[in-house]
Amino acid sequence: MLIHVGIDDFDSPSGGCTTHLAARIAWELMRRGLKLVDYPNLIRLNPSVPWKTRGNGAVALRLESEISGREILGIVEGIAEEYAAEYDNPKHQPAIAVLEGDVPEVLTKIAYKAVGDFIPVETLERVLEKLGRDRLETRILKGKRGLVGAVAAIGVQNLEGDFTYEAIFYRTRDYIGKPRMVDASSVAEAEARSGGGLFLNYDFDTGRLLATPHGPDPILMGIRGENPTVILEAVKTIRVEEPVEAVVLFRTNQHTDQHLQEIQSLCQAHPYRCVRVRGLVSKEPVRIPGGHVIFGVSDGECSIDVAAYEPTKGFRDIVSGLTVGDEVEVMGCVRPGSPSHPPTLNLEKIRVIRLTEVYKFENPICPRCGSRMTSAGKGKGFKCPKCGYKTRDLTKIKVRVERAIKPGFYQPPKHAFKHLMKPLERFGLPAKSFSYHPVDPFIKPPA
Ligand SMILES: [Zn+2]
Repeated sequence: MLIHVGIDDFDSPSGGCTTHLAARIAWELMRRGLKLVDYPNLIRLNPSVPWKTRGNGAVALRLESEISGREILGIVEGIAEEYAAEYDNPKHQPAIAVLEGDVPEVLTKIAYKAVGDFIPVETLERVLEKLGRDRLETRILKGKRGLVGAVAAIGVQNLEGDFTYEAIFYRTRDYIGKPRMVDASSVAEAEARSGGGLFLNYDFDTGRLLATPHGPDPILMGIRGENPTVILEAVKTIRVEEPVEAVVLFRTNQHTDQHLQEIQSLCQAHPYRCVRVRGLVSKEPVRIPGGHVIFGVSDGECSIDVAAYEPTKGFRDIVSGLTVGDEVEVMGCVRPGSPSHPPTLNLEKIRVIRLTEVYKFENPICPRCGSRMTSAGKGKGFKCPKCGYKTRDLTKIKVRVERAIKPGFYQPPKHAFKHLMKPLERFGLPAKSFSYHPVDPFIKPPA
């Protein structure tokens, strides 16, 4: 029987991490003879909801099991409670969900909504109520918030379309909080050699290592790539100069733009929703204090402010090159309004579809000597500053302005990428598919 286990909100400032717990659970279940039929699924949820966990990642394990979901829930609960006590976080509200059999359509629907939109816990509870307790069991350890992620991770199966992989290296307990000892050049070399198979592990533009997170979590680094083979190859050559507890391969919706919902009208761009939508630039870009660039987009019926924030650096210069009338497709999540700001779309990527023609008016050229003439005063025509020629017969000349930007896709620099954002380098890849079969996600098993 197929069993799905979802967990969320086990991150803590003292070193806890939902993926780390997932690895422990996977290890324990495999030790008991259960078979994983998929790599642990690391599912990133809507990055714009205010109560998100760090990175907002939930995990689902999928197993072929002889024992019941209820029994598995008991095992998982034991490990999770121990973990939550070890890495206490007063703010977290961890939850576990266990489903027997195929994922019902209603869960898939609600799960995709949790990735790109907003699901109130109450809505989820109503759905779970309808679904019944015979197939889906849930446990709330401290508060309900983690429930959405735990259930959503089960619902997002990513069997068709786009998905990626990440090998996560876990630190030993003694090293959590200390500087990470990874040879950045070995990561750069692996990525360069992979011919696009690895991505967003190293930023060749700035020479920055992207694979290592910051802060006191148990993750040493994550190596992101298109398939298990390319990642396994890379892991062999990447040099790490500290002990590693385990290396686990996850299948994930990271860097797929799964959160972006294509909408036909800006009227549907409600707060917390992540969208891609076309419109015309309706307000000139302005740089506001703090270095953010804000412009307006309208589709004739509704309009929205769009912001390229300061950390996106050079991306703001692209955006600043837009002008009223340009046709664009904007991608990102909508931040709700406040008393001082209207709702704002946090720009993750932009496609410039069509540039409007921009003209300026210049003073005419002197017909006698070829110099640029100046105004002789209001209604008095032009005069030449060089030869003194005066005329009322000439008018200003309309000149087309060369635009600073060109049609096409633009993205922020690599270091400003968030988990779900799909790099342009990944556009146009053929669709992938995955079918459940026994796998071993432990590239390096725990000692
Ligand atoms: Zn002249």
